[in-house]
Amino acid sequence: MIALQRASLPPAVVTELTRLTSRIPHGDSDTARKLWRSSRDTRRFIRDRLGLMAAGRGYCMYCGDGLGTSVDHFEPIARNPRRAFDWLNHLLACEFCNSHFKRDRFPLDADGHPLLIDPTAEDPLDHLFLVISLGTYLPQTEKGRTTIAVCGLNRPLLERGRAAAVDQVAALIFRWRTGVPETRDRAVWTLRDQPHADVLQAMLRQASMPGASRVFGDNELLDLLRDEELRRALATW
Ligand SMILES: [Zn+2]
Repeated sequence: MIALQRASLPPAVVTELTRLTSRIPHGDSDTARKLWRSSRDTRRFIRDRLGLMAAGRGYCMYCGDGLGTSVDHFEPIARNPRRAFDWLNHLLACEFCNSHFKRDRFPLDADGHPLLIDPTAEDPLDHLFLVISLGTYLPQTEKGRTTIAVCGLNRPLLERGRAAAVDQVAALIFRWRTGVPETRDRAVWTLRDQPHADVLQAMLRQASMPGASRVFGDNELLDLLRDEELRRALATW
């Protein structure tokens, strides 16, 4: 999971979302679902807009691995039907996360605040720490702990993918260092296009933390992760 910048919508779409919301009676999740299903063009527009906000080729905003195929309602329609067409409530999810993990779950703390990380509203890495050598997340907060559990962020296939991504990131960064300008551009493009963007983000962040040389064990890689030119080239997220 990485922090994402929510895009704005064209005024015509905002008007349409408001119009659709006004047709949903309070507490009527059946009407909200029917309206959501029948509003194909609006749904597709939202999905495409989320795809542009997501990392790489439009990866799932939860796992960062699968391609995002559907619009997930962060606060489920079942819980708050009037947020079915709320742009701030829309995230892009892969089929697997949507059907098997997040689903209609929306745990709250004692004060009624969500215990799930919204990557468009806060930086997930403030709540989650990635153990780079294992590809496993450790919770830093209660919200982090709940998000790991609800979204299945430590499922074995994701851990394996992240562990492999660490090697791929390192190889691409070394290629960036030695390459001619075209090779460098290609390396940066590939780094940004890869699944598991959270791995690169975590590596960049942890390279600046105390004890980084113990984490990476490779000072050459560590120096490159701290290289201002590379960090600038990657900083278009
Ligand atoms: Zn997913």
